[in-house]
Amino acid sequence: MTETPTLVWLRDDLRVGDNPALHAAVERGHPIVVFYLHDDESEGLRAIGGASAWWLHHSLAALADELESRGSTLVLRRGAAEKELPRLVKETGASAVYWNRRYGGASREIDARIKASLRDDEVEAHSFHANLLHEPWTVQTGDGRPFRVFTPFWKASLAKDDPREPYPAPKKIDGGTAPASDSLDDWGLLPTAPDWAGGLRETWTPGEEGAWKQLDAFIDDSLEDYESHRDEPAVDATSRLSPRLRWGELSPFQIWHHVRARATTAAQKKNASAFLREVGWRDFNYNILFHFPDLASKNFRPSFDVFPWEKPKKRELEAWQEGRTGIPLVDAGMRELWHTGVMHNRIRMVTASFLIKNLLIDWRVGEEWFWDCLVDADEANNPANWQWVAGSGADAAPYFRIFNPVLQADKFDKSRRYQSKWIPELGTDDYPEPIVDLKKSRQEALDAYEVVKREGNG
Ligand code: FAD
Repeated sequence: MTETPTLVWLRDDLRVGDNPALHAAVERGHPIVVFYLHDDESEGLRAIGGASAWWLHHSLAALADELESRGSTLVLRRGAAEKELPRLVKETGASAVYWNRRYGGASREIDARIKASLRDDEVEAHSFHANLLHEPWTVQTGDGRPFRVFTPFWKASLAKDDPREPYPAPKKIDGGTAPASDSLDDWGLLPTAPDWAGGLRETWTPGEEGAWKQLDAFIDDSLEDYESHRDEPAVDATSRLSPRLRWGELSPFQIWHHVRARATTAAQKKNASAFLREVGWRDFNYNILFHFPDLASKNFRPSFDVFPWEKPKKRELEAWQEGRTGIPLVDAGMRELWHTGVMHNRIRMVTASFLIKNLLIDWRVGEEWFWDCLVDADEANNPANWQWVAGSGADAAPYFRIFNPVLQADKFDKSRRYQSKWIPELGTDDYPEPIVDLKKSRQEALDAYEVVKREGNG
């Protein structure tokens, strides 16, 4: 008798290593259908941005190769999960569906409904813990509430059992008879007219193999000095693993254990803790998202609802987006973002602060732009960090801390290497004059904040 297959539904976990859903499916022993569903129809799911779509395309292509080399095929389908998944179950006669958990509000509701309806139909449905070091509902304050401040959150996380060891990638996957698949090229995830992705191609090799190379190179070359150089955008001091985590090409468990195992010198060990603490911020932001699903649209602190944002200022907004504000550190960052799909963390803070505080443009407008341009844009970290800069978020920087981009450059880009790399015309007549007076706009921001202090409640 042929055995009914197990479906493994991949989402934010585009990897064969340390993939609990895939691992459990292999243990089950039935043939396995691995599939990715491009769901751009379900209500409430946020459509991915342009740079993310580019990444997704290439990461899926790499994953398809990984699976093929193990005897399996990646099946691609498009449409609303609650329609397409039952269809595929029927088509394949699957008796079980396994997936790794996701944490956005709408996705959790979709997954819960799917799980219930599969079980009603007597199809096994299991979800697994794969993409955060600790599940959000397991790290709580002493009286059982979610943490709103990072340091005690991280202390509580560290006090828990060490994150589990990663699962090895299966050597062979019995793919059985694969059902029909869409062609990746037909999904139109890559930009064509115009093709703006040249900088992304130059910068990245999406997929698990590229991710591991990057992790090892970071440990070998940069970990030892991570803390002392992580704020300097001209130095290759950070891991640049954020898109790997976003798309799940690496799991936080793999990073956790690999970094700790390979950090052997005293300096590496000390820096490993500092680095893993940053990975902890990712867990923290997902915790916030889990408890506050409207993170991208609503102020986490409702007192900010009365903030007098200026009406959209097209000219200023476009200058910011295109890196033509006349403020070199801001422009360098915005150009780095456009070219590479990422921006150094320090400069993300500076550019976001400039938009929010010197231009008085609502943080949601900036968040949208980053969402479209970042290859690591994710539902938790992007809005949580924007709200952090705005002062409206959890454990946020106080609103009155307004980064001065000139002083920030003096401090973190002393040699001006970063600025001149991204702005070749700096110092010539081709570079624009500043679009705002930093001092005056700073005062205007502080005046606007008075409204929150005076009228905001909550
Ligand atoms: P490393 O310093 O090597 O850190 C290792 C990992 O820790 C990162 O890959 C990331 O997963 C995590 N991490 C580090 N800093 C943060 C942080 N502040 N918050 C959450 N996780 C962190 N990060 C995203 O992954 N996606 C986003 O959409 C995103 N949007 C941001 C928007 C703004 C306005 C700001 C200020 C920050 C944003 N960040 C975002 C956080 C941070 O800038 C990036 O994670 C970091 O720059 C990635 O570089 P790295 O991998 O070299 O970091």
